[in-house]
Amino acid sequence: MRLAGKVALVTGGSRGIGRAIVVALAREGAKVAFCYRASSEAADALVKELEAGEHDAVAWQADVANKADADAVVAKLIERWGKIDILVNNAGVIRDGLLATMGEEQWREVIETNLGGVYNFCQAVTRTMMSARYGRIVNLSSVAASKANPGQANYAASKGGVEGFTRCIASELARRGITVNAVAPGFIETDMTLAVRNAAGEEIKKRIPMRRIGQPEDIARAVVFLASDEASYITGQVLCVDGGLTLGGM
Ligand code: NAP
Repeated sequence: MRLAGKVALVTGGSRGIGRAIVVALAREGAKVAFCYRASSEAADALVKELEAGEHDAVAWQADVANKADADAVVAKLIERWGKIDILVNNAGVIRDGLLATMGEEQWREVIETNLGGVYNFCQAVTRTMMSARYGRIVNLSSVAASKANPGQANYAASKGGVEGFTRCIASELARRGITVNAVAPGFIETDMTLAVRNAAGEEIKKRIPMRRIGQPEDIARAVVFLASDEASYITGQVLCVDGGLTLGGM
């Protein structure tokens, strides 16, 4: 129970990696709120599952790209549990396409969700965390921030932005007892990678030195570590969790 007494907020907690993070934080003793964009049934089912396990959990619909939504979620959380100790910016989307045919909407949705959402929620929690002189912020990046994947210029730009943003605000907030780090997953088994997994099949594993596709729980464990007091002297870092994918040389 490394997070007993802590209050956590996870964006995009209804499915995939975010769901695994919500479950892992709750199992470590945190009270967990999460938001989702559209999957209300999945969100309700997760809250019921956690409550059945005697965990405190709540879910709210919110679009991370909308600043007013972010402010409203944080206000509701503070009203409910009185504080926020941990923020995990997990919500993200892909809208892949080559630059030659990438429409403005395809560009904007990815930047506004993946990078704008991180700004919206960090901004919404910063003053409260500064007053408390305590905070743990973990942002989800991707190996795509540092590795060229044709068709992902919008996604790579958003995640590169997340990493730069993480380092900057880590430096701004360090003296207030707030750490800010990023986790960069490799290839993880979620809805986001379903189309690629269906198209490429077993071939994908040959590009991963550990020869397996990552599970959402692999990422959740890294997030819990960075959110815990065991990581209290780590800030402004990007932790790659990819089974060796970015090592190259395969
Ligand atoms: P996923 O299975 O597609 O789930 C995405 C989650 O984000 C869902 O809960 C979704 O809510 C939520 N979401 C999306 N847009 C939102 C918005 N505008 N407002 C609020 N919530 C929103 O994705 P995932 O694979 O778990 O990815 C999670 C994070 O890890 C993302 O930041 C992604 O870029 C990153 N990542 C994933 C991989 C991978 O291999 N899967 C690799 C590197 C990085 P709804 O259910 O309501 O749609």
